[in-house]
This record gives sequence, C-alpha cells and structure tokens, in this order.
Amino acid sequence: MPTHFCVAPNTPGLPASLAAALAENPANGHTAEPGGRRKRAIGEFRKFWKPGRTLQIAFVDDPDDAHRQAIVDAIVLWQPWVNLTFEFVASKRGDIKILTGYNDNYSLIGTDALTVGPSDATMVLGIKPHEPRFQSTVLHEFGHGLGAQHEHQHPDADIPWDLPKVYAHFEALGVAREEVDHNLLNKLDRSLLLATRYDRRSIMHYPVKQELTLGDWTLAQNTRISRKDKAFMRRAYPTA
Ligand SMILES: [Zn+2]
Repeated sequence: MPTHFCVAPNTPGLPASLAAALAENPANGHTAEPGGRRKRAIGEFRKFWKPGRTLQIAFVDDPDDAHRQAIVDAIVLWQPWVNLTFEFVASKRGDIKILTGYNDNYSLIGTDALTVGPSDATMVLGIKPHEPRFQSTVLHEFGHGLGAQHEHQHPDADIPWDLPKVYAHFEALGVAREEVDHNLLNKLDRSLLLATRYDRRSIMHYPVKQELTLGDWTLAQNTRISRKDKAFMRRAYPTA
C-alpha cells in the first residue's frame, strides 16, 4: 500500500481535461454500451493518446545516465502492447515530461498531460533504480501516462475494505479523505475499462494490506504487466 497516492484529484479540471482528450483522440468522448451502441459520454471520457502517433517522452531534470536508462528500460516494456512510438527526447519538452528529483511517484492520466505548461512535469518518478519496487512503480505510473486507471477501482473489484480502518490508516499518514476516495475506493465507470475484466494481477492494482480488509483478503505488490493489462492497451491503442 503506498503512503502517497498517484493520481491527484480534479487535475487538471474537467473542461481542460475534456477538451484535451477530445482534441487528441475523438474516440475518447464515446463510451461503448453493453449492446454495442455507442453514445457520447456525459462526465465520463477516456484520455488515450491518438493511436499511431509518436509519443515524445522527456526528462525535465537531469538524472544521471544509468538512472535515465533504468527508467527507459522499464517504460519500453509497455511498447509492444500499444500502437504508439515512444521517442525519448533530449529536450525537456515532450508529451510526457518526467521529473525524478522529487520524492514521490505520481502521474497525470493520459491526455491530461497536454494541459500543463511546456516546462511542467506530467509524471513524477522519485523512486530510485536500487529500490525494490522501482520497475513496478515506473510501469504503474507510465500506465497512468498511457491513460490507464486504477484496477482496484474496477466496478467488479471485490475488495472487502474495512472502511473505518482504511480512513484511519491514511489519516494517520496525512492523506485527505478525498484522496483516499479518489485513488482507492471510488469505483470507475465501466466505459473507462474498455470491457476488460477485473484483474487482481494488473500492474495498475495497488497492493492491499490484510489489516485494511475484512476477513482474509490481501494482495502483494504486482510487479509485471499482466495479460489483461496487455489486452487493455491493445484495445486502447489498436493498429488501424
Ligand atoms: Zn496509480
């Protein structure tokens, strides 16, 4: 269980977020209904980049070469599953802009990255390559950068949270209740999941501590891109 959450609430604000998502990829504004009909989403929309495009990835600070390469090595593990070309640029300007010199790990979701200033970071990767969760953290945050949301918030997630304990646990860590709801408890609209099933092996799932659940439900940190994660990305970024 992280001590901080990786998706900031209400960032960057709904109008800017929606405008960026639709300008980049008009399919973001549609949700597939169970019967196959498509309708315009109201309040819910996806934030995927336009399939087929080159995604420029920049570092806004200057990690040393080994650190930078370790991040690149983790990010490219997503490359086979998306119809995007990852281009790591020497410039500090890009579509996704990574900051390493800050002790936290979080990311904007997909096209929300288009709403920040040209020199502002869209993803913070404070974790260092020698730390045990380095690769899984980079994979998780970059999953957000590709538009993936939290798997533990899938509408079919069956985690029996012990809510009073969950809130008390995070309150003690100084995390606002709104952030706990936004990153952990609120269920996502099914349309955002691209009809993929709930998957407790997903790299987008948080680990779950047994003491925060009722009964015997616990989950260790997932460390790899799961089969369902791959299927999700293939649906989000199909080849034409
Ligand atoms: Zn996350």
